[in-house]
Amino acid sequence: MTNSNIPEPTDQSPLEELGLREVINVNGTMTSIGASLGLAEVGQAMQRILPHFVEMDALQRKAGEQIAKSTGAESGYITASSAAALTLSVAACMAGRSLAKVEQLPDTTGMRSEVLLQMGHAIHYGAPVEQGLRLSGAKVRLVGSSTLVEPYQLEAAITERTACAMYVVSHHVVNYGQIALPVFIEICRAKCVPVIVDAASEYDLRCFIKAGADAVIYSAHKFLSGPTAGIVAGNETIISNMLLQNKGIGRGFKVGKESIYGALVALQMWEGRDHAAIRAKEESALAIWQGALKNRKGITAWPEDDPTGNPLRRLRVQVNPELAGTSATALVKALAAFTPPIIARNHEEELGYFYLDPCNLKESQAQVVADALNQLSKP
Ligand SMILES: *Cc1c(COP(=O)(O)O)cnc(C)c1O
Repeated sequence: MTNSNIPEPTDQSPLEELGLREVINVNGTMTSIGASLGLAEVGQAMQRILPHFVEMDALQRKAGEQIAKSTGAESGYITASSAAALTLSVAACMAGRSLAKVEQLPDTTGMRSEVLLQMGHAIHYGAPVEQGLRLSGAKVRLVGSSTLVEPYQLEAAITERTACAMYVVSHHVVNYGQIALPVFIEICRAKCVPVIVDAASEYDLRCFIKAGADAVIYSAHKFLSGPTAGIVAGNETIISNMLLQNKGIGRGFKVGKESIYGALVALQMWEGRDHAAIRAKEESALAIWQGALKNRKGITAWPEDDPTGNPLRRLRVQVNPELAGTSATALVKALAAFTPPIIARNHEEELGYFYLDPCNLKESQAQVVADALNQLSKP
């Protein structure tokens, strides 16, 4: 290093250097604790491109080619995040190829400006989906009721004001009473309304494109173990119109060369990943945790499939407060009080259970969690 302002690299972990604590993640790919374990190859790729100037549109085109290859879509584009992609995909549907309209947003005067969303899909993933859509200037038109949405309601909601329709795939959505994706697409297609699928947290990179979605949004920093970025797979029109948004509201969601290249490499790595070996490791973590909780009165634990069909299981820990003398909430808190803190998946803890997710463990952490469970299990 010749620039004396740049610190010499040290062997110390950045956490030690900054005085921050490490946490053990048995929650899932959570933004609040740093998303996922990034792959070393992705980090190296990002480091390799940083010292270069690069024509960004050409780099995005290369990323688009990789996205097309990985997803079966015509084209693709890297955004700053899935949340950014929610906003920009809707903006693209409203402004199309018109640079004047790109610059006019979020004022939607003279544009089709409604985005349709099933009421049971109006979720909070860490922020409200609806807000991500509204940020473009669009109005969200909710369809149906939270627990019942009928095809005729979607049909009736489509008017000359409709810009697009958003379909959310998530464990957070109401998992009954909603219109299934094939029917949703069929109704929208018949009226030439583009369908965008928010599949931020899904493993299957092909099925939604195959089902006929115009664009599908994935997070690079979730299961793909890439940099913080969004990956949009879609048809040429919607993708090129999204790129145009970089001259407008997209500027605030700028994604750098390192993230575009990092996401591209994460997609390449995904193709070669040994999924069976990863599953086997996860299953062995579930087994030792289940064992650690086995003889505790009032606590039952069993592996449960992922609710959206991702190929992974989590340990469900069900607590009967009367028998156990404790609650799910108290146990989650107790795990977080360990050093290092163990962060469990607790979005339904008020219902008397929580989950332990094995997807983001480092070497030997499964045993650390088991030891903590053993301690908690002692009456
Ligand atoms: C995580 C998530 C998002 C946000 O993804 P980011 O890439 O972190 O912005 C949006 N929608 C759903 C369904 C998610 O699970």
